[in-house]
Amino acid sequence: MAVDRYAVFGHPISHSKSPLIHALFAKQTGQKIAYTAQDVPPGCLEVAVRVFHAGGGRGLNLTLPLKELGYQLVQELTPRAQLAGSVNTIFWQDETLCGDNTDGVGLIRDLTANLGLTLTGKRILILGAGGAARGIVGPLLEQKPAFLVIANRTLARAQELGERFAVLGKISVTSFADLAGKHFDLILNATSASLHGELPPLPEGLIAKGGCCYDLMYADRPTAFVRWGLEHGAIISADGLGMLVEQAAEAFYIWRGVRPETAPVIWQLRADADKKTV
Ligand code: NDP
Repeated sequence: MAVDRYAVFGHPISHSKSPLIHALFAKQTGQKIAYTAQDVPPGCLEVAVRVFHAGGGRGLNLTLPLKELGYQLVQELTPRAQLAGSVNTIFWQDETLCGDNTDGVGLIRDLTANLGLTLTGKRILILGAGGAARGIVGPLLEQKPAFLVIANRTLARAQELGERFAVLGKISVTSFADLAGKHFDLILNATSASLHGELPPLPEGLIAKGGCCYDLMYADRPTAFVRWGLEHGAIISADGLGMLVEQAAEAFYIWRGVRPETAPVIWQLRADADKKTV
């Protein structure tokens, strides 16, 4: 029987865990698919997508730095891709190139279903105003927090996000310096500072009593922000591995109509990471 082909495009891409995640989903659900990772520089995206589909490819994930380009490229957008302004999942419907964004739903499922958090009525802070922040603001506001604050090094980028999403709920923006004296129930790090082992400048007392921290970045060892959360009183301080697996599960569902169980896949990836760090 022919195997349906899927892939993730990014630049660079060698670090991607997506081929392993989708192989585990396929094994678990008995779906016959092949999923590979392909290095695609931004200037080659359009041709690479066309060549992939002409060769029988059925669906794609896009990762850094291609998500915004994917948004421009597709012919039809789902409402959540429209809201996010970026595309991480591509599928074809009657030869129409369609784009979706599963990052937001992936984050919400990890926070609520996996970590057991309630977001409604909570004071939420997002650090960063880049592509990842843009993808999660809408889905977070849909959970009806008490309010959402975006803090960013470049204030103008936070302001742009604040204006874009103001119709969806109570949202405001701030510099890092003006965070002093404020308290939040959930702080999400959507900056890329963790990639370099760095942290934005955060004041003491930022985490409210019983509050939680979440770093969208994931790594085999706890990230600088996950460690900061634990050292400053967060009752949960998690990285973005669960979000990665959940957004992949949603893409798998879009392509195959089957929803894989995510918990065993998250456990396996955590166990693999632990083996690497001992
Ligand atoms: P972008 O490059 O679009 O944005 C980077 C953001 O980080 C900007 O707000 C930038 O501020 C800020 N920043 C960078 N360095 C610093 C620093 N030293 N101090 C303070 N702020 C800093 O990146 P993305 O939004 O695409 O990605 C952000 C993170 O989210 C990455 O770590 C990525 O791996 C992760 N991610 C995880 C996903 C998952 O599934 N778990 C999915 C998507 C992303 P400024 O505007 O001032 O430059």
